[in-house]
Amino acid sequence: GDLAHQMGVKAGQVAMKLLEGGMMANVNTVLDFDTSALMAEEFGYTVENVAFDITQFYDTTPDPEETLQSRPPVVTVMGHVDHGKTSLLDAIRSSTVASGEAGGITQHIGAYQVQAGKNLITFLDTPGHEAFTALRARGAQATDIVILVVAADDGVMPQTVEAINHAKDAGVPVVVAINKIDKEGANPDRIRQALSEYDLLPEEWGGKTLYVEVSAKQMLNIDGLVDTIMLQTELEELRANPDRDAQGVVIEAELDVGRGPVATLLVQRGTLKPGDIVVSGQYYGRVRTMNDERRRSVKTAIPSQPVEITGIGGVPEAGEPFFVVTDEKDARRITQFVIERRKKEEMASRAKESSATSLDDLSAMIREGELKELKVIIKGDVQGSVEALKESFSKIGNEEVAVKVIHNAVGGITENDVNLAASSSESSLVIGFNVRADPRAQEMAEKYGVRILTFSIIYDAIDRIRGILEGMLAPIV
Ligand code: GDP
Repeated sequence: GDLAHQMGVKAGQVAMKLLEGGMMANVNTVLDFDTSALMAEEFGYTVENVAFDITQFYDTTPDPEETLQSRPPVVTVMGHVDHGKTSLLDAIRSSTVASGEAGGITQHIGAYQVQAGKNLITFLDTPGHEAFTALRARGAQATDIVILVVAADDGVMPQTVEAINHAKDAGVPVVVAINKIDKEGANPDRIRQALSEYDLLPEEWGGKTLYVEVSAKQMLNIDGLVDTIMLQTELEELRANPDRDAQGVVIEAELDVGRGPVATLLVQRGTLKPGDIVVSGQYYGRVRTMNDERRRSVKTAIPSQPVEITGIGGVPEAGEPFFVVTDEKDARRITQFVIERRKKEEMASRAKESSATSLDDLSAMIREGELKELKVIIKGDVQGSVEALKESFSKIGNEEVAVKVIHNAVGGITENDVNLAASSSESSLVIGFNVRADPRAQEMAEKYGVRILTFSIIYDAIDRIRGILEGMLAPIV
């Protein structure tokens, strides 16, 4: 319909052409770009794709083989509470960093690297699976290896199992650290036995999982643990291309009173430098300062290196990807696009949340001819928009199905509105424009299966109602 309108021809003419090509369509059919381009050509027009394409700037295609270089592993420590996750991280840090360069008090920035012999290891230092899941929830895969800490005197506990499941689900290999072996009653083999039932059969028993016995408190076999991590790393063949614009993931971010938004970024490929324009979610900015967890300034951050940066215009979310662009104009366009898309998503999910029953069955009823009239109640923040909606709705219908506004008023959606909708017909809708349903109304709606839809853009409301009626509108051809 829109395409026909743009070209100044009848929708039926376009539908006819589509039919010649074997496609049934009506005025509401959505055409993809290629089909619209083809159709436009038939009528002597050309179509230009001006839709925003984020992949133009955020390239997620893998780097060519020859550019890849090995990178340090990114490790997360997980396990049941009190089994020694924090102690183990401290033990590793003090046993490895002590030999390194002195200076700077360690700050919590969410991640750090330690030098273990010739090798570097990156630790995400928020132990437990909260951080791990938070990152994963946003689609970020930041961890290469999970260290599962199990206290030898306690055994496999609920959070141990949870951690195993998280690691499994993410496809991340697990190294088991049996901790507290200094304690009386410590029985490492019992742990091995128990974990074997969770697909973690020890290598020494013919399985694939590497186990180490340690005492975080007494600093026993910490170097053994580090060696085991490196052993597992060799199996993983972790590589990335350091010679490109940086990309990675936000590990943590907060608003610092003195420094403004501060974010810890884990570089996953490319090299990050001060002055780079970083985009993450709805924010961007030029990297002003870059430092490690000891507040030592860092000149470049390469793959697997975490750095704390300032300069972003807002606080990005943990788990959000970040990437570097060369042109500030692009950064502005991208973030603008993200902001708009999020607004739309939010609205859509709010509308979905409040629709107690599926709108599909409403459409189905209309399609079946069971419904000749869609009854709606309109509530809005101002009279003007209520009137506008009422007016627009009256135009949407056709001979077969009509929209009938049974009530309209200024104000929030109340129990009364829901009652009215429920009692008037099983198929009435309550529409809120810039207003929401109060808790009682919400409850009633759920109880009676009344559908409440809320909008803040008139066009969206019209579009939605039109969509519901769509099942009914006969094809034009
Ligand atoms: P988290 O909750 O997993 O981070 O566990 P913590 O690191 O806080 O440790 C919990 C308790 O166990 C603390 O009191 C530690 O001192 C103690 N602990 C940790 N590792 C060991 C160990 O190897 N041996 C002994 N005896 N106690 C330990």
